[in-house]
Amino acid sequence: MSKYDIVIVGSGLGGLECATMLSKEGYSVVVLEKNHQIGGNLQTFTRDKTIFDTGIHYIGGLDEGQNLNQYFKFLGIRDQLKLKKLDENGFDIVTFDDDENEYRYAQGFGRFIDTLAAQFPSERAGLVMYCDKIREVCANFPLYNLKSGSQDPGNFKYLDQSAREFINSCTSNPKLQNVLAGTNGLYVGEADKTPLYVHALVINTYIESAYRCIDGASQIARLLTKSIHAHGGKIMKNAEVVRFHFDGGKIRYAELKDGRMIEGDNFISNVHPALTFNMMEEGMVRKSYRKRIQSLDNSISVFILNLVLHKGTLPYFNHNYYHFKTEDVWNQVDYDLNKWPTSYALFSGVNSKNPGFSDGLIMLSYMKFDEVAKWSGSFNTMKYDSSRGEDYAAFKEEKAWLMMNELEKKIPNIRSLTKSYYTSTPLTLRDYIGTVGGSMYGYTKDYKNPILSFISTKTKIPNLYLTGQNLNLHGVLGVTIGSVITCSEFLGNKYLMDKIVKS
Ligand SMILES: Cc1cc2nc3c(=O)[nH]c(=O)nc-3n(C[C@H](O)[C@H](O)[C@H](O)COP(=O)(O)OP(=O)(O)OC[C@H]3O[C@@H](n4cnc5c(N)ncnc54)[C@H](O)[C@@H]3O)c2cc1C
Repeated sequence: MSKYDIVIVGSGLGGLECATMLSKEGYSVVVLEKNHQIGGNLQTFTRDKTIFDTGIHYIGGLDEGQNLNQYFKFLGIRDQLKLKKLDENGFDIVTFDDDENEYRYAQGFGRFIDTLAAQFPSERAGLVMYCDKIREVCANFPLYNLKSGSQDPGNFKYLDQSAREFINSCTSNPKLQNVLAGTNGLYVGEADKTPLYVHALVINTYIESAYRCIDGASQIARLLTKSIHAHGGKIMKNAEVVRFHFDGGKIRYAELKDGRMIEGDNFISNVHPALTFNMMEEGMVRKSYRKRIQSLDNSISVFILNLVLHKGTLPYFNHNYYHFKTEDVWNQVDYDLNKWPTSYALFSGVNSKNPGFSDGLIMLSYMKFDEVAKWSGSFNTMKYDSSRGEDYAAFKEEKAWLMMNELEKKIPNIRSLTKSYYTSTPLTLRDYIGTVGGSMYGYTKDYKNPILSFISTKTKIPNLYLTGQNLNLHGVLGVTIGSVITCSEFLGNKYLMDKIVKS
């Protein structure tokens, strides 16, 4: 039986990035993935020859000199990515019922200000103040700026400031306030929770540059896999970890569902922290630590409608839509069930074989796990299929119908353009990704209690480390920075950042 220097549980972006960095540095590494397809949220699926992304619809910070571009260069994947830059004059468009205007987010801060100032001429000074502050906040996070530095939250400013209050301090125009927070689905914005730094780090990266993955984001997982294999690392699919076994206070084996034991010196979990600690007997960590990890709030889940369109019928649109039925964009998580969907995000896939047209649309709206709780005893993935029954199918059908009704307001002939459609619910996310309650982005950050939601890569178990979206921040950039934080424990932060900057 082989023994590895590092056993990584989960092949989400964070797991694959850690495996790439550590195998490159000579560690023997194995990644254990429960699914047949690697990548976690990077997974894509195909219906009627149309590729759909599941959890990555666009990525920021990929222009020359920008942070993710540099991290991806270091990981050896930047030059091979097939990307399409979104419309520089409006990559995201915020719209509202009963308002014909489209409010565009342009790429580049100068253009961002000019574009919105054209619609809000008296608010230019507020827009300048908004952009200056966003950059000021981002400047406080060393790894975000490709600099080595401590990740101790005590060193950061702005953790305890509210995103909503900050935006409202830049402008008193209610429409502009809603527009500036209009893409808050990117981080599940909540009026009384979302910290300014979360808004700033996420928005800044897309204003710098915004790209879609041509033919889907699973290419990122494939390229990282290639690199892991090239450096002698191993990836095992259909390898669900069910238990950690201890020896002298440290983990020695990860036990797989089929009974195989994988031995390692160190373990990195890319799985949600609460589920990670469920995989060990009580008593291996202090009750208070386990309780804290398990009691943290998770962000809401989502219902997704994936539409396959008749070929060559809908011209490709090179931007994303964030639409709201009501004017208060900060009040979407506690939606009124009778008015659902009160907001949605709409993305188009980009297909290399049919570049001028959209062949698949993806429409997302928040959904609470409670709505599907009665089917929570079932479990469905490609490999395991316990049918959820006809009432579940009817539930999905009804929700798809309601989504289509909304979409029809934006694309009036959408029903006739649609060849087929497929849906996913919070249960889909729970079963495929393994997040608690199908949560989209993991732990909720709260400006009123900022330290609580900071999860350290080091755990109370000396050879167990965490990585992934719960560690630092969700999203491609957030998870990548989290992977660097995790790997710094083995390689040293300064050593690693020097290599990243020089690559
Ligand atoms: C609907 C949606 C849309 C999004 N859109 C964007 C976007 O446009 N841009 C962006 O930057 N971010 C987006 N995100 C966020 C982004 O996808 C995630 O933050 C990121 O991919 C999470 O990566 P991760 O490393 O935490 O791993 P995850 O993707 O959470 O993967 C974890 C992996 O662990 C595996 N696993 C779980 N349990 C076990 C076990 N017991 N044994 C073995 N393996 C296990 C899972 O199968 C999975 O492969 C979106 C997320 C969602 C849900």
